[in-house]
Amino acid sequence: MVNHIRQTLAPGLYLVATPIGAARDITLRTLDILASADVIAAEDTRSLRKLMDIHAVPLEGRPLLAYHDHNGGRVRPRLLEALSSGKSVVYASEAGTPMVADPGFDLARAAIADGHGLISAPGPSAVITALTLSGLPTDRFLFAGFLPNTATARKTALRSLSDVPATLAFYESPKRAAAMLRDAASVLGQDRQAAVCRELTKKFEEVLRGTLGELAAEMAETPRKGEMVVLIDRAGERTVNLSDIEEALRAVMNDMSVRDAADAVSHDLGLKRRQVYQIALKLSSEDEGGG
Ligand code: SAM
Repeated sequence: MVNHIRQTLAPGLYLVATPIGAARDITLRTLDILASADVIAAEDTRSLRKLMDIHAVPLEGRPLLAYHDHNGGRVRPRLLEALSSGKSVVYASEAGTPMVADPGFDLARAAIADGHGLISAPGPSAVITALTLSGLPTDRFLFAGFLPNTATARKTALRSLSDVPATLAFYESPKRAAAMLRDAASVLGQDRQAAVCRELTKKFEEVLRGTLGELAAEMAETPRKGEMVVLIDRAGERTVNLSDIEEALRAVMNDMSVRDAADAVSHDLGLKRRQVYQIALKLSSEDEGGG
């Protein structure tokens, strides 16, 4: 059965997402665009050809160009020229969404700068898939891509993320996963909740959930192969008691109105303003009574 529709596309650069494992995760719209674009560009032309074959999308003599980090400077002008002559150009990275830890950024920027249309056909991405499986909060997340290779640089990068109030998401190679988890446990704390999401949408999909300490030990003892995403929960809520609030208020109340001091302290300590304001009022009246 043919799932795509060939059509005349408006000129422009079409960024299409491709599956991260299961070939049937491709969207019908991406198939339509692959079947219809005048020029096809791919990070890996062989894997895109294979995907098009699986879904019975014919090439029919259309140009299929490799575009990746190593030849971008040379191939980008050709693609921009095609756009300038009113052609539709589709770009797919090897797997998942282009530009998410993948090439495509310079091409998209150049297309925007030259005033060409830019169209996205959304679809799979490992970071979103992993986030939904991790069991960690999804209200806010920070995608940090790949961490540096060396332990020192990796720890510095992790330290800079330690207080970010969001779930942290990293792409990681199987060779470095155990070391990365060990460093994360030492920098961010053994007890932070985390997840390792491996081989997503593939036959050996696996999700490991636990504390950083537990996952570091598990991955050191039984190393896993395959592609993986590591997710780490945000730091736990700080416990703040009454004397912390009073101390923080006293530190600023000489220079600020009660109202401003309550604003500043509630913001700094992540507390409700009303509660801090009541305490500030009490301190202020005690000080007036005493003085
Ligand atoms: N652009 C892609 C995306 O949108 O997900 C990511 C490309 S990046 C070069 C490849 C990394 O993505 C892998 O090293 C791994 O961390 C992650 N990844 C890709 N496919 C995956 C899968 N099926 N399961 C787990 N992680 C995957």
